[in-house]
Amino acid sequence: MNIYITLDYEIYFGENHGTVEKCIIYPTAELIRIAEEHNVRFCFFVDCGFILKLNEYRKKFPQLENDYAAITEQVKYLSQTGHDIQLHIHPHWEDSYYNGERWVIDVNRYKLSDFNEAEIDDIVSRYKHVLTELTGKTVFAYRAGGWCMQPFSKLRRAFIKHGVWLDSSVFRNGFYVSNNYEYDFRGAPDKAIYRFDSDPVKEDASGMFTELPISPIRNSPLFFWKLFLLGRKNPYLHKPLGDGRAMPAPGYRKKLLTRFTNNPVSVDGYNASLLNKSLRQLQIKEFEHMVVIGHPKALSRYSIEQLEAFVAQNREKHNFTTYSKQFLKS
Ligand SMILES: [Zn+2]
Repeated sequence: MNIYITLDYEIYFGENHGTVEKCIIYPTAELIRIAEEHNVRFCFFVDCGFILKLNEYRKKFPQLENDYAAITEQVKYLSQTGHDIQLHIHPHWEDSYYNGERWVIDVNRYKLSDFNEAEIDDIVSRYKHVLTELTGKTVFAYRAGGWCMQPFSKLRRAFIKHGVWLDSSVFRNGFYVSNNYEYDFRGAPDKAIYRFDSDPVKEDASGMFTELPISPIRNSPLFFWKLFLLGRKNPYLHKPLGDGRAMPAPGYRKKLLTRFTNNPVSVDGYNASLLNKSLRQLQIKEFEHMVVIGHPKALSRYSIEQLEAFVAQNREKHNFTTYSKQFLKS
């Protein structure tokens, strides 16, 4: 099995966005420690809109210099030591600003498709450029902010123009619509990899894009009850390391606690307890790729332990890899 441990590298977008140190730098340093001890490499989808904003505001607010330096140095270090740095777009940074004390985050235009085609072209171009400048390496893979990449027909032209041809945002049967969010992966192909063209959930063998979906998992409500109760009982082990709050997702928590839901396989918090179970399910289906999502901010001490155990148990039998290693000819 090719196993991709992928992390969306970002702060929180709710009322309290948290600190760069606790949401990004410290938990990523823990990932670096695991990677180096076990000689594996991970994939980081870097929220480059944030780097652009830090760069813009650090001239006026010198207190942002530290955050800018910490992130750009860590991203460079990750890239130089063989981790993959790829594109994560949260276009709401276009409408957000720093007020001298905190980031004022406006999520009214949360999805890339909330912008017009000329704006989308400009965003993809500038956001990708930040990463190629920092790393000097090819950026070709994409993870949509909040999984919102539909309708893709509106993004298609910009992605082709800027050489983004692999997407890793879909998780089969995922579905959620609210004011800001919108993704519908119901009916996506039950495959480890496929081609598509204008719709990421419709296979098109001659399409311009490759989809390497995040591996899906079906969770019972009991699983999330356990997760919330454990968090109360032992916050030291189960509380997220990040010190901010997610943006509101109306009805989402209730849905998780009352019915079976389709979710991405994840290393965030208590989800990390299911890594081995998910791997076995994919092996039964004879899939060649396992894609795991995570967020440094949402890792807990528990999930870091679980990830380290998963890597230690499986690194001899399986291939922990990155998009660049698998898909770019060197
Ligand atoms: Zn994100």
